[in-house]
Amino acid sequence: MEVRRGIAVAPGVAIGPALVLGSEDFRIPQRFVRVDAVDAELSRFRAALAAAVAEIAGHEELAATRLGQQYGAIFAAHRQLAQDPKLLLEIEDLIRQKCYSPEFASSRVLRKHAKTLQNLGDRYFAERANDLFDLEKRILRHLLGERREELTQLTAPVLVLAHNLTPSETANLDKKFVLGFATEVGGKSSHTAILAGALELPAVVGVGSFLADVSGGETVVIDGNEGTVIIDPDEETLGSYRDAERKMRSAAVRLSSLGPLRSETRDGVPIHIYGNIEFPDEVDHCLERGAEGIGLYRTEFLYLEGDREPTEEVQYDAYARVLKAYPQGPVVIRTLDLGAEKFPQTMQEVIEATPNPALGLRSLRLTLHNLAMFKTQLRAILRAATLGDVRIMFPLVSSLLELRQAKMILGDVLEDLEEERVAFNPKVKVGMMVEVPSAALMADEFGREVDFFSIGTNDLIQYTLAVDRANPAVANLYSSADPSVLRLIEGVVKAAGKYNLPVSVCGQMSSDPIYTPLLVGMGLRELSVTPQSILEVKQAVRNLTVAQARTVLEHARTLDVARDVDSFLRGEMKKLSAEMV
Ligand code: PEP
Ligand code: MG
Repeated sequence: MEVRRGIAVAPGVAIGPALVLGSEDFRIPQRFVRVDAVDAELSRFRAALAAAVAEIAGHEELAATRLGQQYGAIFAAHRQLAQDPKLLLEIEDLIRQKCYSPEFASSRVLRKHAKTLQNLGDRYFAERANDLFDLEKRILRHLLGERREELTQLTAPVLVLAHNLTPSETANLDKKFVLGFATEVGGKSSHTAILAGALELPAVVGVGSFLADVSGGETVVIDGNEGTVIIDPDEETLGSYRDAERKMRSAAVRLSSLGPLRSETRDGVPIHIYGNIEFPDEVDHCLERGAEGIGLYRTEFLYLEGDREPTEEVQYDAYARVLKAYPQGPVVIRTLDLGAEKFPQTMQEVIEATPNPALGLRSLRLTLHNLAMFKTQLRAILRAATLGDVRIMFPLVSSLLELRQAKMILGDVLEDLEEERVAFNPKVKVGMMVEVPSAALMADEFGREVDFFSIGTNDLIQYTLAVDRANPAVANLYSSADPSVLRLIEGVVKAAGKYNLPVSVCGQMSSDPIYTPLLVGMGLRELSVTPQSILEVKQAVRNLTVAQARTVLEHARTLDVARDVDSFLRGEMKKLSAEMV
């Protein structure tokens, strides 16, 4: 049994067989073979190995004649590795003595040696480790042939283990078969993490290098509460996880009784809780858990799901689906926030041309460079706005000019629709995300030109602290509790108050109940949270009075480092609600 620690990003526990995603996205379907099949399996292994050796020899010859002997020598080294008698004996022994399938045995042996080389911490040896991984893939390709299983063609439940999953790969995971995932890289507020929550899949990211220890097929536990990944758990561990699963289910049932209750403080002040969604179907969870509306609809996932841009009609249908669930409540539709790590397949060239994507052509900047795409979306939103209380929100606004430009385009689209006599709602409210420090600092000025603010703490933290939200190496520096971040949020709330503008927090910070007292203390009366945390946040609200919240804020203001704010808030949470902690 091997226990790895990472960053917990989506709660819950998943138990099942591992599917290891290499760069070729295939897995080992079978770990063991029958005793009477061992001889046949050994022959199958030798045939696959011979094919792999012949393939490498072909590359060797081609490289030597086209590029020169020194290039041929690269493949000669691979070939020698594939013919190394000790390695082969080790693999064959596992097939013969332990009845391992040739796929599992090759993977086990080659990964074990690769890991030893990697651990030497020397570049030369690390490259030799890559040669072993390369050989593993080659042998597996020959062994599995047509039986290679792709992520898109799963037929049985698995836990996906990968170096990284992009937001679009995550969006396309088939929930019927994928029970949870763990990745070597990634951070708490990365979009991949947010999607795990949206799909309600237990997930752990930022585990660090661990794939060399797994071949696929092993039983794995992904604990999305604690942030652990357990490979080959022993019986006792498995038993305790099954117990924990049962307890979590009953705690969830208890929390669900809060669904129909009002979200208000103990002294009767309403704190409106809205849902953050990435996919229209998530509205069902929001309704079930009593969210009063949708405070953030991340529409870019419509673009990330397929391999072509969604038409105006496809977008209209998606928005209409959300409005059907919430005809009364507000539905805040955020215009496309593509870029950084959220790139659809149709925009691959842009991604390659952008060396520092979080500071590059992303979000509103990108849509302002693609007016046709922007206008198509605005048309769909304005048309859907005839069905309910739709509000438009622009993401990543960093200057007043940018906001004015976006509003001007919106004005053009309104005129177009009027001229075409298409039914639309001309009175849609227009707001902005405050998620760039420049916007937070200029909130007073922005307040005159928008109908509402929504504070996006995920990006606000990343840009204020200069800490990549998806990088596990700096995850310890990424904190909602940093006093600089709290000051910016307070400034925005104050500016909103000056113009009587609605203001909410829609970043992940608002989904964590430890921050509820602080945010309520600052004067926030609207929180937009992930569907999974609606009930927990409601419980935190119902355990609190506004006076208590203000006291919490006052003390937090006296602390000057994130760690102290964080531990103070945890202590307060414990005091306010022993049960929740
Ligand atoms: C944010 O940045 O806080 C936010 C809500 O937007 P996203 O997570 O989609 O970048
Ligand atoms: Mg953002």
